[in-house]
Amino acid sequence: MSAPVPTGLAPGAVLGILGGGQLARMMALAAADLGIRCHVLAPEGDNPAFDVAARHIVAEYEDEAALATFAEGVDAVTYEFENVPAATAAFLSQRKPLHPGARALAVTQDRLSEKRFVSELGLDVAPFRAVDSLGDLEAAVAEIGCPAILKTRRFGYDGKGQVKIAPGSDLAEAYDAIGRFPAILEGFVPFVREVSVVAARGLDGAFAAFDVCENEHRDHILAFTRIPANLTETASKAAIEAAHRIGEALGYVGVFAVELFVLEEAGTERIVVNEIAPRVHNSGHWTSEGAQTSQFHQHVRAVCGFPLGSAERRGRVEMENLIGEAALRWQALLAEPGAHLHLYGKREARPGRKMGHVTRVTPERP
Ligand code: AMP
Repeated sequence: MSAPVPTGLAPGAVLGILGGGQLARMMALAAADLGIRCHVLAPEGDNPAFDVAARHIVAEYEDEAALATFAEGVDAVTYEFENVPAATAAFLSQRKPLHPGARALAVTQDRLSEKRFVSELGLDVAPFRAVDSLGDLEAAVAEIGCPAILKTRRFGYDGKGQVKIAPGSDLAEAYDAIGRFPAILEGFVPFVREVSVVAARGLDGAFAAFDVCENEHRDHILAFTRIPANLTETASKAAIEAAHRIGEALGYVGVFAVELFVLEEAGTERIVVNEIAPRVHNSGHWTSEGAQTSQFHQHVRAVCGFPLGSAERRGRVEMENLIGEAALRWQALLAEPGAHLHLYGKREARPGRKMGHVTRVTPERP
């Protein structure tokens, strides 16, 4: 079977989404605005996207019978998370257009291939070495120096699968701590700020980036995003240009995020790419009220082959994540003028769990 040629859809079409979390939920809500119905496939669990999807299928991502049924009912497929198994992506892309494509997944699922890809584009990344044994780790620490961070190559997020290595750290213990999985060692980047670029590339190659945003993490989880970022015009342009180059090189279709570190060196700012997320991203949630087109609408536009919308900002924006019990503040947030509350409808507010977010937009005075 040869891969179907990607063609633009029209309102009335059905978009399939892999994954049933809040990102899929917000994508499905945006799709509905554009007259697109969504079918969601996700394994058993608390799947808030099911509440707003025209149809849902509960199945493992490896269940080919379920994937075949899913593919039959949709006109194109997208996903809300980067760990879609390669075989699943291949199976679906032989049946229906899959955006973003298999290459974006392959490059970004593995921190080693991602770092190599980004540095081959001529963009700065942290110094890195592949680690497949304790011997590799010892050699890598000797070459890169300390402090450094040992990260599993696959399935890491929100600081999981990572351990910091300080001078004198027991390397065997550190390797055990990440389960002795294939890993990379990264030199520690002495950043002053973390920023990200959320951008979209259309089926026709059009590119639209939202303004660079500044991210504040707490306990390895995004706590606040603020726009505009505290960044020079030059660094801001370089960050957006980095995202443009990455999107082109991947032949990307859809919304993606590039997370960057900002360093201050000799009075100038330098940006270093940390990672690429081939999906809508938490640091883009501010766009729902803070930009002319939200990242969710933009993603649906891109993967359906519609023209991209304006990414222009509507003012100064702050997005606050509601983690765990913070969502219990919902009444106070609803009473706050100008606060836009988004709750994900998750059943249980476990600590560290993203339950919702709130955006605040302040018009910029001329
Ligand atoms: P990651 O899962 O790669 O996004 O890493 C999670 C967080 O760990 C980042 O947002 C940074 O705050 C920190 N971090 C990751 N890699 C590095 C690095 N090479 N140098 C300094 N901090 C890092």
